[in-house]
Amino acid sequence: NNETYLARQAEFESNVRSYPRKLPLAIAQANGVWITDVDNNQYLDCLAGAGTLALGHNHPDVLQSIQNVITSGLPLHTLDLTTPLKDRFSEYLLSLLPAQGKEYCLQFTGPSGADAVEAALKLAKKVTGRSGIISFSGGYHGMTHGALSVTGNLSPKEAVDGMMPEVQFMPYPHQYRCPLGIGGDAGVKALTYYFENLINDVESGVRKPAAVILEAVQGEGGVNPAPVEWLQRIRKVTKEHGILLIVDEVQAGFCRTGKLFAFEHAGIEPDIIVMSKAVGGGLPLAVLGIKKEFDAWSPGHHTGTFRGNQLAMATGLTTLKHLTENKIADKVAAQGEWLKGQLAELQKRYPVIGQVRGLGLMIGIEIVKPNEAKDHMGCYPADPELSALLQKNCFKAGLILERGGRNGVVLRLLPSLLITNDELAIFLDKFEQALLAAGI
Ligand code: PMP
Repeated sequence: NNETYLARQAEFESNVRSYPRKLPLAIAQANGVWITDVDNNQYLDCLAGAGTLALGHNHPDVLQSIQNVITSGLPLHTLDLTTPLKDRFSEYLLSLLPAQGKEYCLQFTGPSGADAVEAALKLAKKVTGRSGIISFSGGYHGMTHGALSVTGNLSPKEAVDGMMPEVQFMPYPHQYRCPLGIGGDAGVKALTYYFENLINDVESGVRKPAAVILEAVQGEGGVNPAPVEWLQRIRKVTKEHGILLIVDEVQAGFCRTGKLFAFEHAGIEPDIIVMSKAVGGGLPLAVLGIKKEFDAWSPGHHTGTFRGNQLAMATGLTTLKHLTENKIADKVAAQGEWLKGQLAELQKRYPVIGQVRGLGLMIGIEIVKPNEAKDHMGCYPADPELSALLQKNCFKAGLILERGGRNGVVLRLLPSLLITNDELAIFLDKFEQALLAAGI
């Protein structure tokens, strides 16, 4: 049963395990948005492998594509050697990048999002001959050394002493609990001032960076969509100063926010696009889209063994085709708006819901203490204890969701992009059960 498996897991694995503490189950099977545990309990899965399973669990087309690789006689992985499958995957993926990818090339970097972030940071340094990176508060880019160095959250950094030097953090224009105000206008002005007046000014002590790295919608940071104007201003300023703009689409990419890429909401073109999670259709794969003018590597400058996972390219290609051919972005955008409306109704009845935000099927629900005084930013104090309790109650009600943001105060929805309206209604029902069970 679940208990036995969890006890054995605790015996076998290190203390660093995190999900099992919050979601105590041993998975037996999964199909679509549903997970069944070894005790035959069913859960609506609004985590979807941390956003990797864009088509949900065990989609028949995805399984068939694995079967096709197995029967085709292709090797399971090929380093960075090419195959007809890799050729088709590359052509298709490139065609999805801005302007049909004509100005971009791809770099397969390895299995995980962090791999691709590392490669992007290294490349930006190589291209510019500079070493500084600007990143943002609340940003999440992965757990390897460089990726963690640009991650704007101190708690995982407690595990290691000494990060990559020359990373400077700027405030992300959060639209809630943010003294910069909605739309981040002051944030935009501050950043512009920073770029235009301080860089290379001997007296300011600030050196011009190699790159700016950001998420157009922060995920782990608590589901924070960046204001469109902010993204546009950053694009303009970085271009003017010869600073590369790296946009991390690991979580927000591939229709999650109701557009193919989250940066499309602002109509901008990044210099480097970081892709992982859904790009591999549920199997490990990470790829950079690099503007050709910045393809500064020479052979051997950046290698890695697992860059040629044929199964991941097959599941990735099937997933990308399904998403685009069925116009899933439009479906996701409409469902996101509907769901936010429904959650806003729930907020009227349950004022512990401080704010509902997000785009498409990347939605965050911030939990607050509505009986205490509002802070100077006009928000009730955050309630991380209640947020944790609600996650637990959701689990008991058969709903899997993750938390994010500062102290995990934001309940996050990241379901399969094929979730139906009926299943979203089940989500709402289970979520309300969790609120009621908390005595609210
Ligand atoms: N960037 C973003 C935006 C992410 O959300 C994540 C993972 N949650 C990563 C990078 C790191 O990816 P991985 O865990 O595959 O290394």
